[in-house]
Amino acid sequence: MADKNEKHKTAMAKQKAKVDKSIAAATTERGIVLLLTGDGKGKSSSAFGMVMRSLGYGYKVGVIQFIKGEQMSGEELFIRNHHPEVYFYQMGTGFTWNTQDREADMAAAQRTWEHAEKLLADETYHLVVLDEITYMIGYKYLDAERVIKAINERPAEQSVVITGRGGGSAIRELADTVSEVHDVKHAFKAGIKARKGIDL
Ligand code: ATP
Ligand code: MG
Repeated sequence: MADKNEKHKTAMAKQKAKVDKSIAAATTERGIVLLLTGDGKGKSSSAFGMVMRSLGYGYKVGVIQFIKGEQMSGEELFIRNHHPEVYFYQMGTGFTWNTQDREADMAAAQRTWEHAEKLLADETYHLVVLDEITYMIGYKYLDAERVIKAINERPAEQSVVITGRGGGSAIRELADTVSEVHDVKHAFKAGIKARKGIDL
């Protein structure tokens, strides 16, 4: 037993030295770009986790949602009821497979992008979430170059979270952190309805 404890202590000390070393090596202070992608569940909810963290420190936050179904989401209710100071803009056209109107969707995407551009030029914003923007780039409703330029030229302290499947290699390259959420299983595929507070 004593031997086991001693071994554990040595291993933990080694681990701590490693962690301390990598913490000491990270010396750059600047806002980052995060891409949360992949076919699994957890992209937008992770982005809203960072919204919550930022609000915890009293930072200014902007959320631009490029796809919006008919149903109100929990995050929308939370922000509208409890954090009206958050800049919250939704494209509001619903899913493209519902609207089936390319021209109207394109115009809506452009209008929505103008809101994003405004935030990306405003240094008072600590965090800007561009939820589901990858689809707008994928459908060519938005020009990838223009999106990348605005993100690259953003204020140094501002972080940007991009969510959605795909998005292309340029966005991957631009991002400092890229997480791919992989779909191992999803309750919906077993016939379980989307649940409030979990899926919406
Ligand atoms: P969430 O908002 O829950 O974090 P997400 O942003 O990763 O999900 P989206 O593609 O934006 O994923 O889809 C949002 C909705 O679709 C959520 O209700 C989510 O539970 C559901 N969903 C996500 N991934 C899957 C999947 N692989 N199969 C079925 N439904 C999914
Ligand atoms: Mg999402």
